[in-house]
Amino acid sequence: MKPNEFMNKNNKPTEATVSRRANLTEVAQIVIVELTTKCNFYCKMCIIHDIKKPKDINEKVIYNLLENTNSLKSILFVGMGEPTLCNNIMPYIKEIHKKGIPLIIVTNGSTLKPDLIDLIVKTNTNVVISFDAATKETFEKIKINADFSSIMKSIQNINLKKAEIPSSTSKISLRFVAMKSNIEELPSLVHLANSLNIDSIDVSQINIHYNCREETLEREQFDYYFEIAKETAEKLSIQLTLDEESTKLNCSQPFVTIDGKIKVSCNYHCIVGDLNKQSFENLWNSQKYKDIRDKLTKGEFPLYVRFNNLINTIKYVYPAAIKVIIRKLSFN
Ligand code: SF4
Repeated sequence: MKPNEFMNKNNKPTEATVSRRANLTEVAQIVIVELTTKCNFYCKMCIIHDIKKPKDINEKVIYNLLENTNSLKSILFVGMGEPTLCNNIMPYIKEIHKKGIPLIIVTNGSTLKPDLIDLIVKTNTNVVISFDAATKETFEKIKINADFSSIMKSIQNINLKKAEIPSSTSKISLRFVAMKSNIEELPSLVHLANSLNIDSIDVSQINIHYNCREETLEREQFDYYFEIAKETAEKLSIQLTLDEESTKLNCSQPFVTIDGKIKVSCNYHCIVGDLNKQSFENLWNSQKYKDIRDKLTKGEFPLYVRFNNLINTIKYVYPAAIKVIIRKLSFN
């Protein structure tokens, strides 16, 4: 028998086959869950305000996700809304903790009440706070409805709780969306983060937000301030990272939409299943999903995947984008 790319001459699987199989059985590194589309802010770069009827995710979706957790490594609460405004966030945190799954919550930091902070710290949940400026003035211009001082207070309250429970491994990070109106404050943000006992700052660029093109930075301008911030961060032992992954297709990070649909990744709109009807475990291990992951990982985009992505982009993304453009034109 002639060796082929799957079997060697001894009729044993080749290295490529073994690594391909490992790929197919991999666990989801992070399952991203959109808990709610409600939000109390109106950030410059966000399209949330075009969502007509904000709502919370159905609890059945969460319980189908957690039915059997062998296929997932960690969960991230983020999406088109403020997760802490989801009515059931506390029971969900408790359930996830009971299952031993690490949890990260991305929040605007404005609704972290004492009982929620207590639970976050006790369950070793990591918190990422969207923090787009180092001064009150710039912060509140970017994040309309925000109160800079109260968000600072929330961070201090998490620190106080962590001091009360020294065994907690909860970490606080900041997420900074770099744009023309805030980039000069990035180095100062590192100092502020140091004074707030923050472990890391994750920086992303505005150009991934199609509704805020006027805030897009020149690469040189971004690099200049990022380098200064990086030097300061190194001196203060704060981790400063540039998030370039958010624009890439990552098949090991499926996204659960507010309606319980599973997209192959947060920025690729191919829907592969519905958590209202099936468990995550069954879906993740289904042959259809394995084949899609396998193909996308190898850089292949089957017709089915392209078509599904196109339909869902037209259905969900273009209408929101068009509304934003119309709104902008009518303001000018
Ligand atoms: S806090 Fe987050 S979800 Fe809310 S408006 Fe700002 S960016 Fe959008």
